[in-house]
Formats: sequence, C-alpha cells, structure tokens
Amino acid sequence: PSLFTAIELAPRDPILGITEAYNADTNPKKVNLGVGVYYDDNGKVPLLECVQRAEALLIATVTPRTYLPIDGLATYDKAVQELVFGAESKVIAEKRVITAQAIGGTGALKLGADFLKRFAPDAQVWISDPSWENHRALFESAGFVVNNYPYYDAATHGVDFESMLASFKTMPAGSIVLLHACCHNPTGADLNADQWSKIIEVVTSRGLVPFLDMAYQGFGEGIETDGQVVRRFAAAGGPLFVSNSFSKSFSLYGERVGALSIVATDSAEAARVLSQLKRIIRTNYSNPPTHGGKVVATVLSNPELRALWETELAAMRVRIRANRELLVDLLKQKAPSHDFAFVKQQCGMFSYSGLSKEQVDQLRNNNAIYAVDTGRICVAALNSSNINYVVDAICQVL
Ligand code: PLP
Repeated sequence: PSLFTAIELAPRDPILGITEAYNADTNPKKVNLGVGVYYDDNGKVPLLECVQRAEALLIATVTPRTYLPIDGLATYDKAVQELVFGAESKVIAEKRVITAQAIGGTGALKLGADFLKRFAPDAQVWISDPSWENHRALFESAGFVVNNYPYYDAATHGVDFESMLASFKTMPAGSIVLLHACCHNPTGADLNADQWSKIIEVVTSRGLVPFLDMAYQGFGEGIETDGQVVRRFAAAGGPLFVSNSFSKSFSLYGERVGALSIVATDSAEAARVLSQLKRIIRTNYSNPPTHGGKVVATVLSNPELRALWETELAAMRVRIRANRELLVDLLKQKAPSHDFAFVKQQCGMFSYSGLSKEQVDQLRNNNAIYAVDTGRICVAALNSSNINYVVDAICQVL
C-alpha cells in the first residue's frame, strides 16, 4: 500500500459541481442560475472599462516584477482602507486600523481565521444559518469549532431577527461572530439599520469579536450605504475584523484581489497586530501577487477612473435590481396565486427563491435550468434572452 492507498475521494464542491453539470448539458436553452458571478445582459462576465484603462496605463509604464511587501502594495492598502472605512474615518486618522492585501475575499477570511486561532485559540466561531458555504469550512480548517446562529426565516423570506438577537445574547464573551456586511449570501436578506444597532450593542456589551465579511460592497444600495455597517462597528471600537473582496465589484474574479483589515484599540496595538499578521502571511504565501492590486489601486486613486468605476458598478447594481422587478412582475402575471414580491426586498446578487429541492431538480431535469438545491438563484444570471424561459419553467413546477 502507498501513502495514498487509504485516501478517500473528497466530495465535490456543491456549487462548482452545478457548473460542471451545466457545462456538460447539450440543451441549447440551458441556463445557469447556480453561479456566484455577475453576468451582463449578454450572459458574459464583464471586463470593466475602468479596468481596461488602468491596465493600459500600467502597460505604458514598464516596471520590473519584484516582490511586493508582505502586506501588499501600500497604495492598494491605503485605497482599500478609505473605501471600506471612509476617507474621513477616525480609525484611519488614529492609525488604529491595519490593512493587508489578500488573495481575494477567501484569502482575507483565511488570514483572519489563522490570526484568530493563534491569539484566541479557545474561542468558538458563529456563522449565520445559512451562510456562504465556505465560511464553515474555512474556520474549521483553521481549527475552530463553528456554530450557527439563527438567521433566515423561510416563512417570511426575511431575517428571524428576534431569534438571532437572542442567540447573540447567550454567546460567551470572546466568541467570534461572522456577519455579512451587506448583500447576504445565499439568502439576499439583510438587517435594517435599526437591527444593526441592536447587534452592535450586544456585540459590544458582551465582548464578542465581530468579523464582517464584505464581498459585495456596491451591489446592494451603493458603495457608501453598503459600507455603513463597517463604519458603525468601527465607531463602536475594536477589536474588529473586516474581509473585503473586489472579485464582484471590479469583476476581477481570477485576479484574486481582496484585503483583511483589523481595527485595534490604539496605534501601538495596531502595529503589533500587523507585525503578527505579516508572520502569518510570510509562512503561508510570503506576499501577494502584483497585477490585481495595481489595477484596483490605480482605479481607486485616479479621480477619472474612480468615477468610471462607480458608474460601471452602479450599472451592475441597477441591472440586478431591474432583474428582480421583472422576475417578480412576470411571475405575478403568469402565476398570480403565488407571491414572489419578497424577491424585490432582497439585496445583492442572490435570491433565496423559495423553490424546494424537488422543484430545483425538476427545473434541471425538464428545462436544463440549474439552481442550487437550497433554491438559491443568481439574479445576475437572468437576462433578456432567458428570463421568459425561466419564468415559464418556474410556473410549471409551482
Ligand atoms: N464571502 C462571501 C460572502 C462570498 O459570497 C464570496 C464569494 O462568493 C467570498 C467571500 C469570496 O470572495 P473571493 O472570490 O474574492 O474569494
């Protein structure tokens, strides 16, 4: 027997598995609503013009490809901080926040998880029920016990806020609570400003450690509004962990651009935190890659490109919202006895559609429409060529 003889085949990633099955499907009408990627109305992943222009600028200034610092490109880290915390942020002025470039939002979460395991080894982690499917695996692989707090209420298609708050009130001090800063994945159901106040209050008073995951800044209400939750937590004091990603907001999925920010109590503490975070990076991948970070830093720090990005991001946000409206309106016309109005209340790229696993199976088998078993659909994958087909198929399985 070899070292590998007893190794079992690992289960396939459930969401990437959907795309594999979709790719293998020969039905010309097939639709993939299972993805976590923004598609434009032509069904293509956009290459933003601000990105193309930044790349042209970068190519024009030939630079050697040396290593970046361990914590990434300094201009990138600064631009990210200002985007996430606000340029006028007190935690930036007081040098209480540190930011390290990371390998996408996933890499940022993993850095935060490894850091926390080192300095809070006995804490437990709490994630929403349900959450992005990688949250549990990431924190478990860092060595944590991961629990769920109540979140989604299937009956109202919204947040079961009373149960969520009650659960926060019983968590031991020092517990790490992972929260989606905006555009909750997979449900599309977010807290309102009032509910966030109550969560911030209980997190602060019970000494919980908030970890905000912001993968969709600008996909909900807008860059500033979506960033409010981070700013409110920062104003409440540290410690605070924030992972953010530009995969969706810059349509730069494969470039792997994200960041981890940590807010500490004072600047001396923040400097010590950064020094330890760098050790974690150094022993993991040493330092991040250059290209994506340079593109994002260029766009964010050039007023003209920045304005272009905001326009392009707004167009993605508006198109998703228009898809929600159209989906609801068409379903109302064709299946008036079913109420899908909740889809309009949801935020970001996803909708928990309320379709059951059986209905999702039927859509796949009868119509080559692929969704996640939980009923999660990517609203950004709907377009003018497929929406009527999708609506007709949904009406058949209702
Ligand atoms: N967090 C959430 C909630 C996500 O939905 C995603 C991506 O789908 C990520 C993190 C990871 O982002 P990235 O692709 O930049 O690693």
